Amino acid sequence: MPDCYMCLPTCENCKPKMVVCAECGARTLMDLKACPLCKAPITEEARERAWEEWRSRHE
Ligand SMILES: [Zn+2]
Ligand SMILES: [Zn+2]
Repeated sequence: MPDCYMCLPTCENCKPKMVVCAECGARTLMDLKACPLCKAPITEEARERAWEEWRSRHE
C-alpha cells in the first residue's frame, strides 16, 4: 500500500485510482461508491482487481 495519501495531484501514489465497472466496463474512480454510467455499485472484487493492476504497474 502507498504510504502517503492525497499529498500532491502529481504524486504517483496519490493520483486517483481507476476501477473498471463490472457491469458496463467503464473506467471510473475507485473512490466512488457506484458507477456514474450504469449506477451499479463498485464491487470489492472490482476494487481488488484495480489494486492488483495498480501494483503491477508500480513494482
Ligand atoms: Zn503521495
Ligand atoms: Zn457501469
